[in-house]
Amino acid sequence: MRVGVLALQGAFREHLLMLGSLGVDTLKVTRSEHLSGIDALILPGGESTAMVRIAAGTDLFATLRERMADGLPVFGTCAGLILLSDRLSDDSLGGYDRLGGLDITVARNAYGRQQESFTAPLTVQGLDEPVAGTFIRAPQILDLGPGTEVLAAHDDTPVLVRQGAVWGASFHPELGSDGRIHAEFLHHLGAAVQRLTHD
Ligand code: GLN
Repeated sequence: MRVGVLALQGAFREHLLMLGSLGVDTLKVTRSEHLSGIDALILPGGESTAMVRIAAGTDLFATLRERMADGLPVFGTCAGLILLSDRLSDDSLGGYDRLGGLDITVARNAYGRQQESFTAPLTVQGLDEPVAGTFIRAPQILDLGPGTEVLAAHDDTPVLVRQGAVWGASFHPELGSDGRIHAEFLHHLGAAVQRLTHD
């Protein structure tokens, strides 16, 4: 079992460290060839405008969409959620190609500017104790289709959702040392996560 982390830009190191702390093999994904060597992929937070520009002109997103259609589990956090959303509330990413795959509409930066970043306790389906979710210029989920499931909400707005094997979070589960959300994602894949096995 090896989990890739899209490493074009943004907080990919934090995800790699988090996965490493859970005993999971990882691979930095920057090219389409890397996709054949992974069993799941995390799309990190960062700046979605930068990510779509870097990916433009390569076959990375097209190949990734094919692998997602074949069932590759993918978890997008923050900017990664923007890449996965089927609809955006504005055209601020211009004509750049995204991935889609999550039947949601997202508004970029809807939780405010960098200095309005905040951390809030989130009750997450499947977890006994709340998780501290950090929101940084976070995208807000405005609506979701019938195939999606809400795993956590903040002020009645969904912030962690999944549609089959595709998961998305508005916040940053890779910040800090709490790996429970990553472990939940991996648990759903049937991965032998060290922490779960040792519990
Ligand atoms: N505001 C960023 C964007 O639109 C996302 C912020 C983040 O990933 N923390 O891409």
